This record gives sequence, structure tokens and C-alpha cells, in this order.
Amino acid sequence: MRPMEFASLSWAQVDAMRRAERPTVLLLPLGTVEPHGPHAPLSTDLLISLGLCRRVIERLRDDPEMGALMLPPLGYGVTTYASAFPGTIHISEGTLRALLVEICGSLIRQGLRAIMIVNNHFEPEHVRTIHRSLDAIQAETGVTVGFLDLTRRERAAALTEEFQRAECHAGQYETSLVLADRPDLVDLAVMRALPYVPVNLAEVIGRGLKDFKAMGLREAYNGRPADATAAEGRETYGRLTEMLIGLMRELVRGTGGRDLPGSYARV
Ligand SMILES: [Zn+2]
Repeated sequence: MRPMEFASLSWAQVDAMRRAERPTVLLLPLGTVEPHGPHAPLSTDLLISLGLCRRVIERLRDDPEMGALMLPPLGYGVTTYASAFPGTIHISEGTLRALLVEICGSLIRQGLRAIMIVNNHFEPEHVRTIHRSLDAIQAETGVTVGFLDLTRRERAAALTEEFQRAECHAGQYETSLVLADRPDLVDLAVMRALPYVPVNLAEVIGRGLKDFKAMGLREAYNGRPADATAAEGRETYGRLTEMLIGLMRELVRGTGGRDLPGSYARV
């Protein structure tokens, strides 16, 4: 059985990989430690990134054009909007940027140039830091690191209606994705009793609010988590897998691979 994880390889296997004709795209899963309602785990965003990476790697096992492996995940991110709730762990934009520039730079200097960021934490300052880091890597090395920016309107259009309404924090969309892989981490009794919180995050963030409680997310979620199902999560994973593989093909062909900033559905 071939490994899914880059760090499970030996150096000799990495050496063979970088010489191989069929490129291997290295996926860097990002998330954060942030409250996701009273029903879902702090690691929700990272769990979604990991679930997506695993599905992409599995789908590409026998693909003639490329393969994929997962880098050790980065489970910390820029997280200030949820800081009124217990459990939030924030790292600064400068720290995240240094991590991304140094991790990708190490790989690129060894000739491992096909790298894709897989992110599912959408706080604007976090997403902006990813873009700025990729700009810095591009300026320094000339290499485009891939990135699927789900805050772009045309990307969101392929996802659920709730996601498109920017009711995308620990609601039906994210909770369904967690239920698809880790139902043991969702408190179903609590989840089913949660009332609908109709707050459009793009709208309130556009008004300059930067705190979940001020935005009306009194329990650190919006949308309808009570309606989440594992079946919806599997369906969404299918769509995310399609999108990411499409972008990875552009990356290895040298025709693209990196979305421009989405500015939280304003683009
Ligand atoms: Zn989330």
C-alpha cells in the first residue's frame, strides 16, 4: 500500500519522487483551533482539509498525469473573531506567513515545486495572509504555489446554498463535512436543538465587525447546524475534490493552479 503522507517516505523515496516523470503534488492542509458552535470540535477546519486531502490522494492513485501526497498539517491559524470563546488558539499573520514561506521554500529549494495549500478556515485575515505568503514565495523563487480560494464567488457557487449565503461557520455546511468523517466528534443531541442563526458573514465582515459575538454568533456558529447530515458532507467532499483536482492539473501543466483573492465573496 502506497503511503498518503509525505513524511512517511524515506529520503530515498523522496529522491525517486522528485526525479519521476509523473509529478507528485504535495498538499499542505491548513486549519485552525477555533470554537465551532457548542456541538462541533475546535479542529473542524483542519478535519475538513484532511478529509479533502485524503480523498484527492485516493482519487489520483492511478491517475496517469499526477499523484499527490499530504504534508504534515498546519493546524494553527490566524483566529481572532472567535477569541471571546474558550478554546481559541491564535497565531499572528507574521507567524503564519513565516511558516508558509519557510515550509514551501524548503521544498522548492529541493526541486519539489508542485505544492498546493488546502485551507478551510475563512477568516479574512487568515486567507489574506495565505495570499501574501504565496506572493512572497513567488517573488523569491519564481514558483507558483497552488491555492483553492473558496471565498471566491465562482468557487462558492459550486457549494451549498448555505455556504453561498456566507452562513459558513459551524453551520450545516461545515458540520455535515465533520459528520461524514468524524461523527464521533459531533454532539448530535446538542446539534439538533440549535436554532437557525441567519447571519451573513460576508455582510457583517463588510461592515467592519471582527468579533463573533458582535456579529450575532452568540454560540460561535451561524446557519443551520441542526440540519447537517453525513450524506451532505459526502456530497460536498465530492465537489471539493473535483475543484481541487482541476486546479492541481492546471498547476502541474503550468497553466495556473492558484486562485486570485476572493475577498470574501465580493469577487
Ligand atoms: Zn470552520
